[in-house]
Amino acid sequence: MIMFDLPSLVRENVKHLVPYSSARDEFTGKADVYIDANENSLGSPLTRWYNRYPDPHHQALKAKLGTIKGVSPEHIFIGNGSDEAIDILYRVFCVPAKDNVIICPPTYGMYEVSAHINDVELRKVELTRSFQLDLEALERSIDGQTKMIWLCSPNNPTGNVLDRADVEMVLNNFEGIVVVDEAYINFSRQRSLIPDLADYPNLVILQTLSKAWGLAALRLGMAFASPAIIDFMNRVKPPYNINQATQELALLALDEVDQVNDMIRLLVEEREKLTSVLSGMRGIRKVHVSDTNFLLVEMEKAHEVYRFLLDKGIVVRDRSKTPLCEDCLRITVGTPAENQKLINALMAFSFS
Ligand SMILES: *Cc1c(COP(=O)(O)O)cnc(C)c1O
Repeated sequence: MIMFDLPSLVRENVKHLVPYSSARDEFTGKADVYIDANENSLGSPLTRWYNRYPDPHHQALKAKLGTIKGVSPEHIFIGNGSDEAIDILYRVFCVPAKDNVIICPPTYGMYEVSAHINDVELRKVELTRSFQLDLEALERSIDGQTKMIWLCSPNNPTGNVLDRADVEMVLNNFEGIVVVDEAYINFSRQRSLIPDLADYPNLVILQTLSKAWGLAALRLGMAFASPAIIDFMNRVKPPYNINQATQELALLALDEVDQVNDMIRLLVEEREKLTSVLSGMRGIRKVHVSDTNFLLVEMEKAHEVYRFLLDKGIVVRDRSKTPLCEDCLRITVGTPAENQKLINALMAFSFS
């Protein structure tokens, strides 16, 4: 194991932070009369009311998630989307205008946006041409102020998984925090790193209900890490970051693992079908191997195809100007009917 000293990584102000103590923190038992939190005691215009503040510790959710993911609740942080977890990681570990982090583009945009918001220096170590980690370049860009390395596997927008041996190499050698974003893990052949948490005190895994679980609108993201890291994240988060409606609906959804697995199977099947149809089409140069619910597709005239599809009412993501994704569109796997519409539209485009 590496030399890992968590307190030396955490910002001084966060280490000594006294978190906000809510009414529901100070009294956690059962009572008849709740007149401690300045809520509206009469109710609300909604039949389900929502006049009471939600559980700031998300206990029911963490218990259920813990069962599904095979970890205990102290290893789980719940955020208002993974995007909140990303921001909170910056605020726990990075001193603005002093510390730096490393990302490996092309990758998910929020690591960069959040760095800029927090005034944290961003170092970019491009992936190799085969969309894998450049370990030597990574090592060269680490210095004493490097607090976090952001890895995304399966990666967005490239769709591939990072080699597990490379990720382990980073985990075994970097003494800062290694974040592995597993937003698309449910669509992947590779297994999650969650069972390995005990081996890596520097590991933070991100997952979300926004993709495979089909609940992007509820805004619920998760971080899995050591209890010590989770504790710092909880101190920094807003007390009521997960609203009552989201907590209730997510709890209902988490009972439907079988239904979600059926959707995953169908989407993976559609992904493979779409891959083989697109690969055979004129004008299409390459459909990158995907471990996600989207495809990165390299083609002739990518930007014109993007405009053409828009005209037909089909929106895809234009990645044709992104380094290493030149001439590529990123296309989410749709319903079988949507995928057929996409294929029909592409066949109507004159590539020559
Ligand atoms: C979609 C996505 C997320 C999800 O973010 P939420 O805020 O949980 O919706 C996180 N990471 C990556 C790489 C993504 O593509």
